[in-house]
Amino acid sequence: MYVILLGPPGCGKGTQSKRLIERLQIPHLSTGDMLRQAKKAGTPLGLKVAECIDQGKLVSDELIMDLVAERIQQSDCRAGCLFDGVPRTIAQAESLDVMLGKNGVSLAHVFELVVDQEELLRRMLERAKVEGRADDNEETIRRRMEVYATETRPLVDYYRQRGKLRTVEGIGTPDEVFQRIANYLAG
Ligand code: AMP
Repeated sequence: MYVILLGPPGCGKGTQSKRLIERLQIPHLSTGDMLRQAKKAGTPLGLKVAECIDQGKLVSDELIMDLVAERIQQSDCRAGCLFDGVPRTIAQAESLDVMLGKNGVSLAHVFELVVDQEELLRRMLERAKVEGRADDNEETIRRRMEVYATETRPLVDYYRQRGKLRTVEGIGTPDEVFQRIANYLAG
């Protein structure tokens, strides 16, 4: 099963991703993780994307979709995977539809985690303190939220129109939130 987890920074995507891949027994395809690994390893790709990551800007659609194309051709993704942090633009969503279509498969669900703005900012600043992620300072957090609102939020309508959108209230304990996701899987 191919599923997408969509939502702004701080909505709980990381926590819910772990549970979803365990429940569905599918690989986790996180472009953010892939880019951070490349950056850490100092590969040519890593050097290219370092500035975007640190400033909270989006990496080019082409580069991202090349990464995704390569990853979904691997055998462990044949039966499905969880897309986390991708797609983030309409162009990426369209490209993903084409890629999956070529493989004769399609998305089963797009889970949108909904959390209000104030709570998001509170969670992100807390995470910045605890994890010390380089892109978790206040300025970058605000930039990432703006980028989400302008570039990624339109995907909600894109997937709603295609009958794939499953809206999930992101407030509550991780178990409570996951139960809402699981209800869609059962139904
Ligand atoms: P994430 O961990 O998903 O929040 O991603 C961290 C950073 O990696 C983002 O702020 C972007 O700079 C970059 N990135 C990750 N996924 C994408 C994507 N699908 N499109 C463009 N940039 C991305």
